[in-house]
Amino acid sequence: MQITVLAGGVGGAKFLRGVRAACPGDEVTAIVNTGDDVTLHGLRITPDLDSVMYTLADANDLERGWGRAGESWRIQDELKAYGAEPSWFNLGDLDIATHLVRTRMLDAGYPLSDVVAALCTRWHTGIRLLPMTDERCETHVIVDLDGGRRAIHFQEWWVKHRAGLPAHGFVQIGLDDARPAPGVLEAIATADAVLIAPSNPVVSIGTVLGVPGIREAIAATPGRVVGVSPIIDGAPVRGMADVCLPAIGVEVSAEGVGRHYGARADGGGLLDTWLIHKSDTADVPGVDVRAVPLLMTDDEASAAMVREALR
Ligand code: GDP
Ligand code: CA
Repeated sequence: MQITVLAGGVGGAKFLRGVRAACPGDEVTAIVNTGDDVTLHGLRITPDLDSVMYTLADANDLERGWGRAGESWRIQDELKAYGAEPSWFNLGDLDIATHLVRTRMLDAGYPLSDVVAALCTRWHTGIRLLPMTDERCETHVIVDLDGGRRAIHFQEWWVKHRAGLPAHGFVQIGLDDARPAPGVLEAIATADAVLIAPSNPVVSIGTVLGVPGIREAIAATPGRVVGVSPIIDGAPVRGMADVCLPAIGVEVSAEGVGRHYGARADGGGLLDTWLIHKSDTADVPGVDVRAVPLLMTDDEASAAMVREALR
């Protein structure tokens, strides 16, 4: 089987561990959001790709939920001592090594997809990771700040303001002109199944789907398209999808997100099947809705979810 997964960061990473456990011997490709990417202190940082890479490699910190296990923060402390801004973005010493290798390769002219492949040779992820695009395209959030309406970088909103400033909308700068990274459209077109991970529907999956050509490739693939709800009992299991969805006019419920993704049968939508948590209900016209356990408490639970998705 060939399985292609659209994914964001932490939620996507947990789901991908489940795919890997459920599908030994299958060829799995993850198309990962790069809209959260940012350049800070001269370093190019790709948070979702790193969450997926570290998590698949068992190198992630489980308590903190992001970054490397066994991390230290000496470089960051030094930057703070110099008064180097921004000081609100946490950069661990081990993580900085990854950013240095990435930035150097990008500066030398390698596309991000080559950089990701090179980084992954060290980590043995078992899943092929592709950035959604090689082009720079960064999510900004429209907020009221300093007496005016402005667009700030997604990371500034998410990390500095803890998503506490009401979002009036999201703009992905550069997205309209972005092209899917090499291999992305092929991975969708030749997949037996396309899985939409229970990642943030707005700033993870929504951004991936905004790359011109990706939505059309999903509409046209002969494989089945199965989405997994990140919303259980009217709330995100983790993260801040509950503040992102209302900003785009979508109800925070499994039904709301299912309807937002829409039925492929209607043309224009994405889904053949929509998995919701066993205690939820959802009516999504044109979509086969199944209620199964959706809590990714451990790899076995995530793998069971994936087996349901593939059934
Ligand atoms: P981020 O990029 O690190 O924010 O992570 P993602 O966008 O990949 O995933 C965030 C989403 O994962 C949130 O909206 C959560 O609701 C969802 N999520 C986290 N854990 C679980 C889980 O155990 N089950 C389900 N169904 N969704 C989850
Ligand atoms: Ca993210």
